[in-house]
Amino acid sequence: MSDDRTTSNPRPSGLAIDFSGDGRTGTEQAASPFKIDFGGAAPTAPAEPTTAAAVPLTGTHDRGRTEAKVIIVGSGPAGLTAAIYAARANLEPIVLAGSAPGGQLMITSDVENYPGFPDGIQGPDLMATFRAQAERFGTHIVDVDIERVDFSARPFRLWARGVEYKAQAVIVATGASALWLGLDSETRLRGRGVSACATCDGFFFRGKEIAVVGGGDTALEEATFLTRFATKVHLLHRRDGFRGSKIMVDRAKANPKIEMHYNTKVEEVLGEAHVEGLRVSDTTTGAERTMDAEGLFIAIGYKPNTDVFKDWLEVDDKGYLTVRDETGSKIEGVFIAGDVHDHRYRQAVTAAGEGCKAAIDAERWLESVGVVEESTAAAW
Ligand SMILES: Cc1cc2nc3c(=O)[nH]c(=O)nc-3n(C[C@H](O)[C@H](O)[C@H](O)COP(=O)(O)OP(=O)(O)OC[C@H]3O[C@@H](n4cnc5c(N)ncnc54)[C@H](O)[C@@H]3O)c2cc1C
Repeated sequence: MSDDRTTSNPRPSGLAIDFSGDGRTGTEQAASPFKIDFGGAAPTAPAEPTTAAAVPLTGTHDRGRTEAKVIIVGSGPAGLTAAIYAARANLEPIVLAGSAPGGQLMITSDVENYPGFPDGIQGPDLMATFRAQAERFGTHIVDVDIERVDFSARPFRLWARGVEYKAQAVIVATGASALWLGLDSETRLRGRGVSACATCDGFFFRGKEIAVVGGGDTALEEATFLTRFATKVHLLHRRDGFRGSKIMVDRAKANPKIEMHYNTKVEEVLGEAHVEGLRVSDTTTGAERTMDAEGLFIAIGYKPNTDVFKDWLEVDDKGYLTVRDETGSKIEGVFIAGDVHDHRYRQAVTAAGEGCKAAIDAERWLESVGVVEESTAAAW
């Protein structure tokens, strides 16, 4: 996120990576290098999925191969790092990138904590470099959401838009989606003062008055963390008491920089180019007022993208996938990486690290079952 409130988001980029899947590159895309459709609803799968050859494909549908030693589901930092490693091990992976190619970093602007970029980098630019690096080594990327899987036997089978994909190993890197309030003004000002990640963006609010929305431990923890930077943190909750643990509530209450606002609902985020304030209402009386704030952190939770896998893989009490032995799952040959299981760190660099580990584990497992020859391991 940028603290230069006049900066548009995302900044125009010199990079021209084809996220569209239609084969256009270079100058054709220069005006809008990141052709991402975040809003597109996933099409409904046909009752009887068929093989690729039987389905006439148009638009961004796949026109390439549908079978691979490894299929990676998801194209955030975890998925694309797994692809780089798998591709360099000659596994010729397919990445099924989802309807949000590039993942969560596509909706933020400045990323200042990813190593290797001392001046920071825009989220979409960072993910364009990930993607270019994965493609350079022969990764085949298709921007589709997986709608159904069958992990009962190998080859594992996955379906997207009526196309059946087959793989000897699968890496699940479908991430998690931040929950938002659902206000138009909130969407418009995302990356311009509205954020869902205090660890990532708190630094940009040094010396500013800001607000945090939420009633659980995450909101209490983020509000407390943000007092390191902000002059004042308004903690807004719709109810008359916090759901969070007593110790977190007490800690927040004792912090002189935090002001608690109970029965308070955000109706609108004010500002054109950046956050300038909030219009809030009292949930008991309906009375409205405005509040000063130059930043708004939404801390109402995350939804891990696990629906497709729930019948096959274990999930924890929060709905995140459960890993066994670092990146494994309860099904041999199915590996897990990134925010889809990690609700502790939730960072691009940790997700990328897990993508690396999952690819190495997948490659070693493929060796162990004789799908690839042992010499391949030298590629690391
Ligand atoms: C506003 C914001 C700002 C952030 N800023 C920073 C920052 O500055 N620094 C930092 O380190 N981290 C930051 N983060 C956190 C970081 O973005 C995540 O930790 C990281 O992106 C997780 O990577 P991932 O690959 O596990 O998942 P994601 O990035 O969530 O990617 C998931 C991928 O899975 C795909 N997918 C989902 N479902 C399906 C499906 N059914 N079929 C196929 N594909 C599917 C999606 O299309 C997407 O490509 C920020 C997060 C947010 C929300």
